[in-house]
Amino acid sequence: MKIAACGAAALAVAALAGTVHGAVAADQPELREIAGAPDPAQLQATVQGLVGFGTRHTLSDTVSSKRGIGAARRWVQSRFDKIGRDCGGCLTIVTPSQTVTGSRLPKPAEIVDVVAIQKGTSDPERVIVLTGHIDSRVTDVMNATADAPGADDDASGVAAVIEAARILSRYKFAATIVYGVLSGEEQGLYGGKVLAEYAKAQGWRVEADLNNDIVGGTRGQNGVVDNTRVRLFSEGTRDAETPADAKQRRFEGGENDSASRNVARYAKAVAEHYMPNWTVALVYRLDRFGRGGDHSAFNALGFPAVRFTENAEDYRHQHQDLRTEGGVEYGDTIAHVDFAYLGKVTATNALTAASMASAPPPPTDVKIGGAVTSDTQLSWTASPGSPAAGYRVYWRDTTEPVWAYSRDAGNASNLTLANVAIDDFVFGVASASADGFESPVVFPGAAGAFWGH
Ligand SMILES: [Zn+2]
Repeated sequence: MKIAACGAAALAVAALAGTVHGAVAADQPELREIAGAPDPAQLQATVQGLVGFGTRHTLSDTVSSKRGIGAARRWVQSRFDKIGRDCGGCLTIVTPSQTVTGSRLPKPAEIVDVVAIQKGTSDPERVIVLTGHIDSRVTDVMNATADAPGADDDASGVAAVIEAARILSRYKFAATIVYGVLSGEEQGLYGGKVLAEYAKAQGWRVEADLNNDIVGGTRGQNGVVDNTRVRLFSEGTRDAETPADAKQRRFEGGENDSASRNVARYAKAVAEHYMPNWTVALVYRLDRFGRGGDHSAFNALGFPAVRFTENAEDYRHQHQDLRTEGGVEYGDTIAHVDFAYLGKVTATNALTAASMASAPPPPTDVKIGGAVTSDTQLSWTASPGSPAAGYRVYWRDTTEPVWAYSRDAGNASNLTLANVAIDDFVFGVASASADGFESPVVFPGAAGAFWGH
């Protein structure tokens, strides 16, 4: 009994040493600035501009200068051009496209994304992607002519991406940040696929896609008003997992620690540190029930990707013909977008991207051992790119949602946690820069890897 009690005490001390909330090792003045930088007036101007094109249906007019998705895309490109001029040419604009057919695209249709690239200074192949979709729809998903303002779904997401570009283009980052305005979402999630495949073809090492879809509403259909919370959806296991990887995960765990999920934990830790009265509510699910988003195309190619959505949705203002019925107003109009709230979602994106792009790449080849011993050993390898100044090992109880404990490993490539039993916790490793920016935490093995599997 005495020995057992002594062991428990040692374990408790070990588990509590160096408790830190993941990803926020040091308070960063630049991130303080970025947290307060989003401008609701800018966001409103962008949503107003997009709504002004009447419809942005994927099959709508592409030639008109006033109406349809073509005019809307060219306008977004002009916004990126302006931001690029203001930062001395820091943005490169590309328009990856594919011609596709599908159940909602009976005739071949060209899907064009408008993408601005802010190249990293020391680690340009490592990429953090921010996305929203420009296309809109009404009740009949094939109706390409009726007014479809799509103010919340998803001019709000596009506005967040453009505003993040305006803010982050004032800074320089180690890694590349890509601002993607996607098409074809409502017709079958095509724009995400176009950009994910473009990323793969370019050889980008995508560290995260932060997708924003329906991020501007604060009044739910049930009367709930919530302007203090955004939901963040992430896959639990990797879409690209092989059967052999799945079998190993079944024995060793990791069903809750895909790279996508650890990107979500990272976004929560960073945003809640820098923003008062703000919750990034992690939802441990790929997306809203029975619904889809452009991040899943990144997941399909093995890239970490997550989705932001407002906490209080009103379905009367999504995918609806503009009308009043029984005294109830239907349609996705600008009246239902809360621009102060959209500013907070924008800050959440910008903070996450800035922190990740300032940190070294997350480590690779993370391994763990320690079965039938009292200790846990972790080892890892530096990823190509900016060298890490050091590493930090994190752990948490298996039933805990977010990382709870951590210990500095210095510049070593391994660490032994004495009297921390491998059986009882979940473990991971993050890299850190000399000035205290940390990467997301990497869970060991294929289940948690960012790259290299
Ligand atoms: Zn949408």
